[in-house]
Amino acid sequence: MMIGTLFIFSAPSGAGKTSLVNALLKTMPYIGVSVSHTTRTPRPGEDNGIAYHFVNVDEFQQMIGEGAFLEHAQVFDNFYGTSQRWVESELAEGRDVILEIDWQGAQQVRKLMPEAVSVFIAPPSISALRQRLQGRGQDDAATINRRMRDAQSEMSHYGEYDYLIINDDFNNTLEELCAIVIARRHRIEAQQARHADTLTALLQGDTHA
Ligand code: 5GP
Repeated sequence: MMIGTLFIFSAPSGAGKTSLVNALLKTMPYIGVSVSHTTRTPRPGEDNGIAYHFVNVDEFQQMIGEGAFLEHAQVFDNFYGTSQRWVESELAEGRDVILEIDWQGAQQVRKLMPEAVSVFIAPPSISALRQRLQGRGQDDAATINRRMRDAQSEMSHYGEYDYLIINDDFNNTLEELCAIVIARRHRIEAQQARHADTLTALLQGDTHA
């Protein structure tokens, strides 16, 4: 039976993770991205069920009680959680899944699924991160300072990940991210399950002309 690979991508806010994942999905549309539940309010352009499942704190607490989350964490002032049922059913169908979660969630998932492949995406410098956060035009100076502190705290966990990518150039970074995903998809166990018939034919087929 074929079991999909679980990828964990973490990055501080402003490192460019979401744009990278969107670009990666264009080249690998067969990979699924988990849509998290969150108690934060939607930003302009964020649709319910696409960017996130937006719920209130009571609904979120109820889901914790029901054991609905593979992992959940408080990030900044809001709660975020990954649906266990969706992730497990995708993996069981043999599909690869990406989780875009913070370091706390990554720690929880690693404990439950040590075979998960985790990637940390960092900005090239503190000043580049600040420029990206300011460039969004969403936040005032105090909020940006707070986001910078939160980013540094997130980045202090980079050593817990299997792979580290520095996002200094979008296209290079995308290539590096794709390389990690492609390499993992070609591991022997995954390829044996995916190409069982071909491998059998190669080894047992008639070699005479
Ligand atoms: P944002 O609110 O800017 O979309 O995300 C804030 C942070 O929450 C990011 O670091 C993001 O990776 C993290 N996050 C998003 N969804 C989840 C989730 O389901 N679980 C955890 N642990 N973190 C999440």
